[in-house]
Amino acid sequence: MTGIVVKSTGSWYLVREPGTGQLHRCRLRGKFKNKGLKVSNPLAVGDQVEFTVEEQTEGAGVIHHIEPRRNYIIRRSVHKAEHAHIVAANLDQALLVVTLVSPATSFGFIDRFLVTAEAYSIPVTLIFNKTDLYDADLSDYQDQILKMYQRTGYPGLRCSAHSGEGIAEVDALLDGKVSLLSGHSGVGKSTLINVLVPDLDIKTAEISEFSDKGVHTTTFAEMLEVRPGTYLIDTPGIKELGLVDIPPDQLAHFFPEMRALLNQCRYHNCQHVHEPDCAVREAVEKGKIALPRYDSYVSMLTNDDNRH
Ligand code: GDP
Ligand code: ZN
Repeated sequence: MTGIVVKSTGSWYLVREPGTGQLHRCRLRGKFKNKGLKVSNPLAVGDQVEFTVEEQTEGAGVIHHIEPRRNYIIRRSVHKAEHAHIVAANLDQALLVVTLVSPATSFGFIDRFLVTAEAYSIPVTLIFNKTDLYDADLSDYQDQILKMYQRTGYPGLRCSAHSGEGIAEVDALLDGKVSLLSGHSGVGKSTLINVLVPDLDIKTAEISEFSDKGVHTTTFAEMLEVRPGTYLIDTPGIKELGLVDIPPDQLAHFFPEMRALLNQCRYHNCQHVHEPDCAVREAVEKGKIALPRYDSYVSMLTNDDNRH
């Protein structure tokens, strides 16, 4: 049988049959190596697997094959710096939930997320939540930010998990896809999940019943079914996509609005800060590249904080 891993505890994997939606608690048989990847877990949420159900133990199965991944995101282990683990695999898109107030998400945070998603080849849509708290000025400001990112190639929309504004649009965005839900804590991810996933309590209870048997699982990612074929991946405690080493002279390639200009700088190894005849800086001066985006670029370049 084939299925998708919807939760992993490290020793057990919860696998959903796509057709029936039935859940199976599975173990891995044999050793699985992730070629070229130094990671501590062989399997992650979103992995497509083949498994067999053993008749003598009802509901339990054995995974014997993992399909190659289209993409994946990995994190450095909190406990062992040299170890990393795969957080999720086979994502169609990421939704980055941001808010302008309580709390305010910074451009730096948004742009770091976008750069990492570029590196992982995962499309991102920005979801501006809590619009019920915005007055006319904030609402205008939000529209400007939305337009800035749209011009850069990142779609976005506004919603309120409380008032229901824009929720139908968010739901339509999810349709038929596997979406990762990300964002700072407090921006309303859990509230959105509650609004978007029908019968969440029942589904969460079903999943916990299978996977929480004496294992601490709160930091593990979980794939929730919005409806058959439409899934949301929640990664509690993880707000950023991490672990992509981007050398400073490559960083501009991960800003789509800079990418097209790079062969127009005088120096081929231009880092677009102090160099003369820099096409990127000229574009910033002419307003063709948004200043906050350029500021994020410089800050990532100098702080080296794009690595974590
Ligand atoms: P998470 O940390 O991203 O999962 O955020 P939560 O879903 O726990 O939400 C944090 C707080 O923001 C809670 O008090 C929610 O009730 C509140 N919240 C979530 N969405 C909205 C919204 O659309 N409008 C308003 N006013 N508050 C919201
Ligand atoms: Zn340059």
